[in-house]
This record gives sequence, structure tokens and C-alpha cells, in this order.
Amino acid sequence: MVKSYYAGMDLDAPCGRCKGETRHRILSITDGTPEKLICTSCNSVHKFRAEKPAKATAAPRPARMATASSPKPASSPSRFQELMITEQAGTKAQPYSPAMKWEDGMWMDHPNFGLGKVQRKSGRKAEVLFREGLKTLLSA
Ligand SMILES: [Zn+2]
Repeated sequence: MVKSYYAGMDLDAPCGRCKGETRHRILSITDGTPEKLICTSCNSVHKFRAEKPAKATAAPRPARMATASSPKPASSPSRFQELMITEQAGTKAQPYSPAMKWEDGMWMDHPNFGLGKVQRKSGRKAEVLFREGLKTLLSA
């Protein structure tokens, strides 16, 4: 059963000042639940107390992983990639190009190897750590 509330609606609710259930009027509604009430007996404004506080703690939306049927990739490479993405943080990975001047610590997004970080630059070569390991790539 769904109770629908609206501002201005009369409602019986416990009033702390009147020490009992009194007639209240809803002043504001949040997510379909009365938030502020005014007691029509003593004119005090107070928050609405849900009868069942257990239900008030709205659970975050349940994850619907059970229905997802996509197979999980092998854990270690994806874990590596996760770590890489976490470490990468705000910096933006650049798509790999041999014409690009790669420097130590730069992030790249390689079409074959995925996300990688430049470990060492020497001459026209850059050593980049990917989930498959260290690769030496051309750099400008
Ligand atoms: Zn009252």
C-alpha cells in the first residue's frame, strides 16, 4: 500500500510538545515523505517521525549483478588495469602514436596493449608498462 502525502495535508502524528497524537499539517514533502509538520494544537513545527524508523534508512539502489550474464574476464589482467586506472587518476591517457613525444610518467592508451605508463625514455624509444609487461615503443 502506498500512502501519498502532499503539502497542506492533515495528518495525525505524535507531537513532543502536546505529548500525544495530535492533528498536524504537512509543510513540506521530501521524496514523497512528510518532512516538516506543524502541530495544529500548539503550532510548533517539527520534523515528521516515521512510525517505522527501520524503513527510513533507505538502502542504496540494489546492485543488479545477478541478472548480468557477461562473463568476467581473467581477474589478474583486469585487476592490473583497475590499478592502472586508479593510479592514472585525473591525468588523461593519450592515444599512442609513434609521432608523439613520450616522456617519463606519461599515460598512453595503446590500441593493442591498452592503458600503459611510460617508465623510461631513451632516444627515440620509450619503455611502457602495460598489463602484459614492459614494451618498447617508438617515440618522437
Ligand atoms: Zn503540538
